[in-house]
Amino acid sequence: MTPDHRPSSAAQRPGTPQPERTGAAASGRTLALTSTGGIDRASHHRMDEAWLAAAWSHPTTRVFVVSGGQALIEDKEDGTTELVTMPSFDAPFTEAHRYFLGIDEDGVRYFALQKDTLPGRLDDIARPAGLREAGVLLSERDSELMVHAIGLENWQRTHRFCSRCGERTVIAAAGHVRRCPACGAEHYPRTDPAVIMLVTDDQDRALLGRQVHWPEGRFSTLAGFVEPGESIEAAVVREVGEESGVRVGSVEYVASQPWPFPSSLMLGFMARATSPDIQVDGDEIEEARWFSREDLRAAIEAGEVLPPAGISIAARLVERWYGAPLPRPRHTP
Ligand SMILES: [Zn+2]
Repeated sequence: MTPDHRPSSAAQRPGTPQPERTGAAASGRTLALTSTGGIDRASHHRMDEAWLAAAWSHPTTRVFVVSGGQALIEDKEDGTTELVTMPSFDAPFTEAHRYFLGIDEDGVRYFALQKDTLPGRLDDIARPAGLREAGVLLSERDSELMVHAIGLENWQRTHRFCSRCGERTVIAAAGHVRRCPACGAEHYPRTDPAVIMLVTDDQDRALLGRQVHWPEGRFSTLAGFVEPGESIEAAVVREVGEESGVRVGSVEYVASQPWPFPSSLMLGFMARATSPDIQVDGDEIEEARWFSREDLRAAIEAGEVLPPAGISIAARLVERWYGAPLPRPRHTP
């Protein structure tokens, strides 16, 4: 079952591994969101209110606001893009929604404030952006800060009540715990593992599929959630079988990517088919095809296939097999 189609208490898991909506080109970058940007999360300070208060009021401390999965970013004259941060004395003091994110290599402490709206700016240079856009523009440090803050925000927003007794919970540990005042339960941010895999056959062709509701021509890797009691390797074999009918033998882990839409961790694999016969389920995946490198290049250049793009690990898995950045359609500027 693809993550996009799994029933959920929310109306839908908003596009969990469905990164291909963005058109931003990510070639030239390493895998967005996966690298460590040099931030020490310093989790041992999260329960230390005196330390947190001193860190908050320190003159070098930087704060940014997250709201609804967005933060302010700003394009600089040198062509880079930065997360807009401010000193804490400029930031509204709302302790209940203050997340301590960590300390960078220069000793600067970072906090995020979760607010109902992003702050207005008079200069009009900063703009609100979600991670799909910001993830390909920001430095590794800024990306790491933003993905941490938005992951916390997503969890906080949907876990206000105790799952044991139903009482309203309160934030603790600088945003990393919710505690129930009635029954004493502590709730921690959840991360839902999902597998995403590029399957190849004995001719080294790649299996790409398209989900029913994707734009015409969009093909990407298969993906799905890990189920309770299942290893991630078994999830790869099961998901490929369910969605495409292809049987998979060996499975090789490649890399992971936090995917806070709202709370997934994408685990990327290369997998080898033992039988190439395709039989799509028709429900989640409407078409799957084997592509040689030449097939894929020609189909992309002709505009018949839109490959995965943007911050997603899917694009990196396909490029890993392809051996180079993917070509672009001939007729697109
Ligand atoms: Zn409770």
